[in-house]
Amino acid sequence: MSGIGMENKPKLVDENNLRIDGRKLDELRPIRIEAGILKRADGSAYVEWGENKVLAAVYGPREAKPKHIQNPAKAIVQCRYNMAPFSVSERKRPGPDRRSVEISKITGDVFESVLFLEMFPRASIDIFIEVLQANAGTRCAGITAASVALADAGIPMADLVPACAAGKIDGKIAVDLKKEEDNYGEADLPVAIIPRTKEIVLLQMDGNMSETEFETALNMAMDACMKIYELQKDALKRKYITDQEVDAEQVEKPNTSRGDNQ
Ligand code: UDP
Repeated sequence: MSGIGMENKPKLVDENNLRIDGRKLDELRPIRIEAGILKRADGSAYVEWGENKVLAAVYGPREAKPKHIQNPAKAIVQCRYNMAPFSVSERKRPGPDRRSVEISKITGDVFESVLFLEMFPRASIDIFIEVLQANAGTRCAGITAASVALADAGIPMADLVPACAAGKIDGKIAVDLKKEEDNYGEADLPVAIIPRTKEIVLLQMDGNMSETEFETALNMAMDACMKIYELQKDALKRKYITDQEVDAEQVEKPNTSRGDNQ
């Protein structure tokens, strides 16, 4: 798709419709989500998605500063997507570039459509996404992580937002492309949805597909989003149960940390 070194293009789908990592066309890479892993952020999440490793931290709602960026009617959403220099095979120059500015913008837009911003005039909700290791699909992993981090921070929103891409490789529609598939495939279609209403809050496309292929890819990405939604809820439940257990332990053994000599 990116057109680099197409002469060295590997076979992406074999005669049994299996992909280079053995996945079926509609199969996701393994995904692990953990909620609430950073002490000093208001909310946080960590996502491992195939070889992607992505961290999301959320602050707010807090007073937006400097004051001139405040909106008297509602909170603003500020998002920064950042790729660590060591996250990719060819060292990435630190700092923002055109791609990271674009991904920060579209991620902020996604959350503007689910957060109840009118509840917090003049405030800012700040989302930080740090890509520690990348293997294609990091914007979707970032949105998935940020959504869990926002819920972990207790910020009111209409629903969690799962995200996943589908694409076209060797003429076949497949979900969740990894790096080689993204590089040598024909198209990539990142999608994010609000599961309860099935509204699409992110839809981008790189490459070419026919209308029918597009419809198949969109449905495949949306089905994948519903699976990821379950993993997001599960991560939050696990965090909530652990917190409750810790609270219960503290009620049973009050002041154990003070010691006897005080
Ligand atoms: N990538 C890279 N260097 C960069 C930007 C991207 O090696 O400066 C790789 C990285 O693995 C990334 C993939 O290319 O995940 C696909 O990038 P794309 O822009 O399609 O975004 P993504 O699929 O990560 O959302």
